[in-house]
Amino acid sequence: MLPPKSTVELKNEMVACDLCGDNDFTFLYNSHDYLSFSPLIFELKKCEKCGLVGLNPRPENISDYYGKYRKGSIKKDIFEFLVPNRIKKIKKFKKGGRILDVGCGQGGFLNTMLKDGWEIYGVELSKDACDFARETYGLNEINNCDLLSLDFPDNFFDVITLWHVLEHLGNPKDTLKMIYKILKEDGLLLVESPNFCSIQSRFFKDKWFSLDLPRHLYQFSPKILKMYLKETNFKIIKRDYIVNPRINFISFKMSLLRWTGIQRAPKIEENDKLNTDTDSRKDKIAWKLFRFSFNIICLLISLFLNLINCDDSFRVYCKKTSRK
Ligand SMILES: [Zn+2]
Repeated sequence: MLPPKSTVELKNEMVACDLCGDNDFTFLYNSHDYLSFSPLIFELKKCEKCGLVGLNPRPENISDYYGKYRKGSIKKDIFEFLVPNRIKKIKKFKKGGRILDVGCGQGGFLNTMLKDGWEIYGVELSKDACDFARETYGLNEINNCDLLSLDFPDNFFDVITLWHVLEHLGNPKDTLKMIYKILKEDGLLLVESPNFCSIQSRFFKDKWFSLDLPRHLYQFSPKILKMYLKETNFKIIKRDYIVNPRINFISFKMSLLRWTGIQRAPKIEENDKLNTDTDSRKDKIAWKLFRFSFNIICLLISLFLNLINCDDSFRVYCKKTSRK
């Protein structure tokens, strides 16, 4: 059950479909922001014409929903464990050259690529993340801005990567068009995204961990992303439907916590109380046993989902085609 709609006014902006330009939408469901303690609820809608699903209306001040929930500065790159697998996948197609990571976060991936002999470039909107990359890894090649505001030469990059980034962008089509321009003719584009058609998404709906509203402005499925890529003159040469078992496990566990009501959508005034409650429960043996059993059950189910090729996310490898 969703709590009553907040009385806080959402300064919102209705947007036309990014993929086909249509303005006719069907309401799917509401969801909460489980991270920022915002009391607002957000509407997910589907384009009647092409099927693209997105947040509509969209908060005017979307950047406010990043980082509000984070206490203190960034201490480490929590996604560094994903790096070895990603590099292995790229190397099956390209052994070296010039790489651009769009939405490069704290720079863990680019730092490893640099050590491997690649010429690296990054784009990242979060100033905190850019500072972390500079101070921790000494990376000065990261631009703290939007890709569309930069002027890279045409046919410049051998590889361009977007690891769980496209769904955060307000203009995925313009970004893909820009990538087409700056990627070499035989270049490789990699896009990884949560899968809106996954079993987890279909089952948990508004409680699905990877829905991540309002930060995910669009929700991609392999079918919708293929339409986007075709529209921007890319062809998919390979798909991975298993991306990372650890992420699949975390997503399943968090979604189940929300679905069972153990994790509720919090409100700002409950933030401190929730933390206190959790701390006191941590000491109890029963709670520890419950948590252990819950983790084991989630692990087994998420591994089973991986086994039948049903991951929370998917990845596509693309090449350029000639312009229409
Ligand atoms: Zn559309």
